Amino acid sequence: MNRPYQQPGQGSREQRRAARRAAEKRSAATASEPPKAVPQQSAEAFCLMWYACECGHRERIWNSRDGVTPFGMSCPSCGEAKLFHVNFGRDTYAPDHVPRNGQRIWISMSKDRARQIARRTAERIAAARKVKIDDAMVERIATEIYRDGAAPDIVVWGYVEAE
Ligand SMILES: [Zn+2]
Repeated sequence: MNRPYQQPGQGSREQRRAARRAAEKRSAATASEPPKAVPQQSAEAFCLMWYACECGHRERIWNSRDGVTPFGMSCPSCGEAKLFHVNFGRDTYAPDHVPRNGQRIWISMSKDRARQIARRTAERIAAARKVKIDDAMVERIATEIYRDGAAPDIVVWGYVEAE
């Protein structure tokens, strides 16, 4: 199965643990150096999480990557910015989860997508100021949105699949 949401070089939890143990051994071997901080997975890495809105909308969204996810966003049912991550105790770590058709998943922001969003933002700013769009402005906004690929984006999984 094609899994475009998987990032190259993204190791499993076991691989990360092994890497951490190796790093700890290395720092123990060189006692003269202080132990180095080993990066930890984010709390929401590869988690299935419930989101709910006061309008009644409720869905389970999967984080396909080791990266942060927003607490709230706009609701696909009512359009209000009232869809929030709820029931934290029911977050499930699921690195091997296969998204169901129609399930929304968090993916990493791509540079192209950041540029798309930045262009729309720049168009609004340019229209409000009655000036032309400036490519440097688009690029500046895109860089802020992209955050070196750490920013989250959301997609509906299986939207184009016919089964
Ligand atoms: Zn709603």
